[in-house]
Amino acid sequence: MLRKCPDIALASALVLSLFFYQVLGHEVNGEEYGYEGNRGPSYWGNDYNTCVGKHQSPIDIEEHYVRNTTLLPLEFTGLHVPRAAKLSNNGHTVILKMEDSNNVRVSGGPLGHETYVFEQLHFHWGKNDLEGSEDLINNHSFAMELHAVFYKEEYGSMNEALNYPDGLTVLAYFFEVTNHPNPTFQTLVQRLPFIEEVDSTDFLPGPLMLESFLAPKPSTIENYFTYNGSLTTPPCSEVVIWIDFKDPFLLSHQQLAAFRNVRTSNGYRITHNFRPIQPLQDRVVYRNIPHVEYTSDMNPQHHHHPHHGYSGQLNMFPSIPIVVVTLFVSTR
Ligand SMILES: [Zn+2]
Repeated sequence: MLRKCPDIALASALVLSLFFYQVLGHEVNGEEYGYEGNRGPSYWGNDYNTCVGKHQSPIDIEEHYVRNTTLLPLEFTGLHVPRAAKLSNNGHTVILKMEDSNNVRVSGGPLGHETYVFEQLHFHWGKNDLEGSEDLINNHSFAMELHAVFYKEEYGSMNEALNYPDGLTVLAYFFEVTNHPNPTFQTLVQRLPFIEEVDSTDFLPGPLMLESFLAPKPSTIENYFTYNGSLTTPPCSEVVIWIDFKDPFLLSHQQLAAFRNVRTSNGYRITHNFRPIQPLQDRVVYRNIPHVEYTSDMNPQHHHHPHHGYSGQLNMFPSIPIVVVTLFVSTR
């Protein structure tokens, strides 16, 4: 049967109005996603299709089921250069950005020979010290998780990178509670009272070497899990190569508690900002087994770099730039 023009016109009008309803709806009602009640994670899919996708993050990493592989060594550049660091509160988390950060890069590991550029780092935490991380390991929740977000250099910007299944890599670091304050994070923690209000910013008092956060020890950065997943906040784009380091940082109870005083756009304390785990579906989580032999003078010798067989199959949802922008622009 021949399709008639009016049908097509009607269908197009419906699609278009749905599109504008989806896109403009956010700008009109100005409501943001949250972690409680009817703005909480189980409702994100109503506004953002991708949040009910098949390759979502976070996940529970069961060590028993991971596949061992040996990847290229992770390589950072620009980490040891001291740079001015700016803290801000976007109503969902605490974000740290670095001056001149396009010179901070990572490659290797699951990224192969591709280079990723540092964008920002931020934190996820819980109501108490027994929970707070997004990914779990063997169903264990850590007290906090740091996400260092990098976009693929080839795509030129964070916003553009969100359109590609290999657009981002996020380096994830876990935190456990201990009795002693961690001096590495103390300067940052001391500035948290100055950014408790949404959209407030503050500079760390001195320059920061990102190395202390992202590559504390050579052994730490070889000991990780990796899998393909998504942003853990709307629009939940499935564009992230996750790298989860196994060795946790330690923070005191007081240091962790300082994060819970940061406030949302409604003035409520962000007591917790982690998304619950999502189904693994058909994905495989890999564990990197470093192929490094230390000689007597302790120079690492890298012998071979077999390719892992990870196809990087991801569901790509049509990307709507305006939806993506809502991630970064407060819609209050
Ligand atoms: Zn995050």
